[in-house]
Amino acid sequence: MTRAAARPKAIFAKTKGHCHFCGDKLRPELYGRRGGAKRGAWVIDHVIQRKRGGKDDIENYLPICPKCNHLRWHRRGENLRELLVLGLVAKDEVKKGSGLGER
Ligand SMILES: [Zn+2]
Repeated sequence: MTRAAARPKAIFAKTKGHCHFCGDKLRPELYGRRGGAKRGAWVIDHVIQRKRGGKDDIENYLPICPKCNHLRWHRRGENLRELLVLGLVAKDEVKKGSGLGER
């Protein structure tokens, strides 16, 4: 058992029960596999991945919903911001009905 698995309540409390990425409200009883894809499900995220030197310590853990965890995966902040900007540009193009948006 990792240190994270032993302390889900303390990790949940760090964001007052919200996904650290999207801000959605999480439900404490839906931690880990019990939550599955239900709304409010959550898992523990390594803010800095272990392979990048992140510690296996509560200071490096935050609660995250499975959808965000899947999207975030190994990406760093710079990559995530770039994806958000591209998504906003694409959404505007679709809204305008431009050729690019149609594609
Ligand atoms: Zn989320």
